[in-house]
Amino acid sequence: MHKSIINSTGVDHTKNIIEIENVSFGYDNQEDVLTNINLQIHKGDYIGFVGPNGSGKTTLIKIIIGLLKFKEGSIKIFGKDLDNFKEWHRLGYVSQRINEFDKNFPVTVAEVVLMGRYSNRKFGQRITEEDKILTREALEKVGMWDYQERLIGDLSGGQMQRVFIARALVSDPEIIFLDEPTTGIDERSQKEFYELLQKLNKEMGITLIIVSHDIEKLTQEVMHIVCINRSLTCHTTPEEFIRESQSTNMFGQDVKIITHHKHN
Ligand code: ADP
Repeated sequence: MHKSIINSTGVDHTKNIIEIENVSFGYDNQEDVLTNINLQIHKGDYIGFVGPNGSGKTTLIKIIIGLLKFKEGSIKIFGKDLDNFKEWHRLGYVSQRINEFDKNFPVTVAEVVLMGRYSNRKFGQRITEEDKILTREALEKVGMWDYQERLIGDLSGGQMQRVFIARALVSDPEIIFLDEPTTGIDERSQKEFYELLQKLNKEMGITLIIVSHDIEKLTQEVMHIVCINRSLTCHTTPEEFIRESQSTNMFGQDVKIITHHKHN
């Protein structure tokens, strides 16, 4: 079943910044991991991707950001076919870095954020005054400027993830994808992290797409829920998602939601 219930939560319905049509994908010559995906994402939206482990959430994000090449269908980003899209700085990506990151790598917080600027330029180009200013601004936005000279490996998981957000922000993205960003982060830092995401979305107008297995938290934070289980099985509001999931198991996973306090 595919639900499509879009509400009026400040999202600009007139502007589709991502349009996915009939996209299917399989790794190498294996069976399809994603089948016939259709999804439109509006400017300013805040979407939670939910689904069981191995259902294709990370794969879909990697397809949209150009890391994996789909075999069927079409994807447009900001109105441009993905094949011709070159403005990658308009997209940010934050993965489960804290688990992947080599904590002994001797790099400072400021250097990690500066790396976000290198992706737009030729190798070997010098760091400019503008790079430094943008790095400072990005770190200030996430409340980590005071830590600029610290080694990244000395930070807590929550602090590190803020730095990776700053690294995405330094190229001034309009959309940020976050793949299980709070895995391994303590509860208090998670709360602060979600507050930061609300600021990025509501105050800075950045469109957010987040994958998380913490469905209860997601339904309190996001504007829309998209269910993925090899195909797209719902696109709905958190309220509707909770109503439906309490009466059925249509989303292909056990959903236990006890309380629900929506952000305004
Ligand atoms: P999710 O993010 O929902 O947990 P993934 O997108 O990571 O799911 O994985 C979807 C399916 O694709 C899984 O069956 C997984 O084993 C498979 N898969 C993921 N990455 C690869 C890969 N590099 N090569 C082959 N199969 C993969």
